[in-house]
Amino acid sequence: MKVVEPTAQSVAEAATLLRDGKLVAFPTETVYGLGGDATNERAVAAIFEAKGRPQFNPLISHVLDAAAARQFVRWSETADKLAARFWPGPLTLVLPRAEGSPISLLATAGLDTVAIRAPSHPVAQALIRAAGRPIAAPSANRSGAISPTRAEHVAESLGDKVPMILDGGPCLVGVESTVLDLSTATPTLLRPGGATREAIEAVIGPIALSHAIPTGEASHKSPGQMQSHYAPERPVRLEATSVAADEGLLAFGPTVPTGAMLTYNLSPTADLGEAAANLFSMLRALDRPGIGRIAVMPIPQTGLGLAINDRLRRAAADDGTNQRG
Ligand code: AMP
Ligand code: MG
Repeated sequence: MKVVEPTAQSVAEAATLLRDGKLVAFPTETVYGLGGDATNERAVAAIFEAKGRPQFNPLISHVLDAAAARQFVRWSETADKLAARFWPGPLTLVLPRAEGSPISLLATAGLDTVAIRAPSHPVAQALIRAAGRPIAAPSANRSGAISPTRAEHVAESLGDKVPMILDGGPCLVGVESTVLDLSTATPTLLRPGGATREAIEAVIGPIALSHAIPTGEASHKSPGQMQSHYAPERPVRLEATSVAADEGLLAFGPTVPTGAMLTYNLSPTADLGEAAANLFSMLRALDRPGIGRIAVMPIPQTGLGLAINDRLRRAAADDGTNQRG
């Protein structure tokens, strides 16, 4: 891992790393982000692995401007008004995935929506421009640690997990981006942040508050609990060591039971990074007419296996009435 001053040369080097599927930590106006190519499933899997988070939460894809965003999401008039007022800046918009959008399914945790934002930090902008692709980036810290506002924090927290840290000096403390869902009938505030509700409503009129946001009343709900998540329509059976003829098999590793109607292997070599990268696309591919049930082979409960198993357990616990997205 190296900590470098952002110069034209080091930013170009960082962009090359990103295009090669490697990770780069970089400053944004909110906190340091742990960035990876948002169109590369393996790079996004590496972000989750580096953070050591036992769950896949959807990540924000960072772009230069509204013109770039249009390539990845179904843009709208409301989005246009908000981008004109708040971009670049701390407002994240959740919009439907565009037809054929190259944004990684793992980056959106399998959802049909994409969270997208144009950061205002000049180093972030230079990196996105040089990389020539959207950058998925959560905060650059190990899961459970505080968000890093200095390059040294990133180095302490992620150490050798990230090959390069662009040192942009201290970030302006604490304010995360506001997350606004525009995929619902009424725009809904999912997370308060740098762009205030009042300022947003001045542009687009009244918005709804997600019930995940504490209102001051006693609440046991945390944002994570309330977040909608991707679930297949078909029932899911875990720890499968054999399969039935009407089942689709989500396999893992070199030894696979035969007899399934359709089989996809998350990783024939039992590589958890590869398995994470394939998880959502293979679940979707198996969740189709003619398949009665999705059987899933055991996945080791180590490293990225924790997040993979968390997602599969939720899918299996689902009663089938859950909506996608
Ligand atoms: P962070 O990476 O800490 O900036 O957090 C990203 C925030 O955006 C989290 O609160 C996510 O739940 C939220 N988010 C990202 N993508 C989506 C999405 N497709 N739908 C709803 N919320 C999202
Ligand atoms: Mg964080």
